[in-house]
Amino acid sequence: MVYIVFLGAPGAGKGTQAASMARKLKLAHIATGDLFRQALERGTELGLKAKSYMEKGVLVPDQITIDMVLERISAPDSGGGAVFDGFPRNLKQAEALGEALARQGKAIDKAVYIKVSEEELLERLSGRRVCRQCQAPCHMSDSPPRVEGRCDRCGGELSQRPAATEVSIKKRLEVYSDETAPLIDYYRRAGKLLEVAGEGGVEVVGNRIVAALGGERL
Ligand code: AMP
Repeated sequence: MVYIVFLGAPGAGKGTQAASMARKLKLAHIATGDLFRQALERGTELGLKAKSYMEKGVLVPDQITIDMVLERISAPDSGGGAVFDGFPRNLKQAEALGEALARQGKAIDKAVYIKVSEEELLERLSGRRVCRQCQAPCHMSDSPPRVEGRCDRCGGELSQRPAATEVSIKKRLEVYSDETAPLIDYYRRAGKLLEVAGEGGVEVVGNRIVAALGGERL
């Protein structure tokens, strides 16, 4: 059983790398942003609760988020462990996750922190698009779609997340540095932090993560 948390600012490449590591290690990929967006598209009660927070770029209340994650962890495909992406986002969530795992005799094994400069983050975030259908990300300058406005993977419509305007990008970065960045120290103190440079292509960064995790006994 392996549990890995991915940490990094919005735009650091966390989502892409977390999905790829989950595939490689055959673990469930638990991405809270994706879970909220799916709930929103389906118009469920959870989606409606999360909507206004997501549009403002602030965090959905902890209890809603924690309950959603705990339910997801108990799904059958999470039996072998999971990669957490976008969760925990603050100390309260980190503690709730640690306690829930401890009740089952489990624990977070490693926290992979993908480090990218603020200047690069802003440039990456403003060109970001996401497929409405399959949630696959692409970037207007780094990985432009083959057909304009359409997802390369499934042909779905690409959208700029409501959260991708300049103001909300700044807000999300602010929320990250106030609430989420303290988790870097939290996992460092627990002896679980692996710091990886996030500059460079998807594959280069992926290889750094594999090398960092490969040096650990999981
Ligand atoms: P993301 O795709 O991870 O950037 O998440 C998009 C939005 O979903 C965030 O700006 C938050 O409003 C919400 N969200 C995602 N994960 C969490 C979380 N762990 N706690 C609270 N809100 C979250």
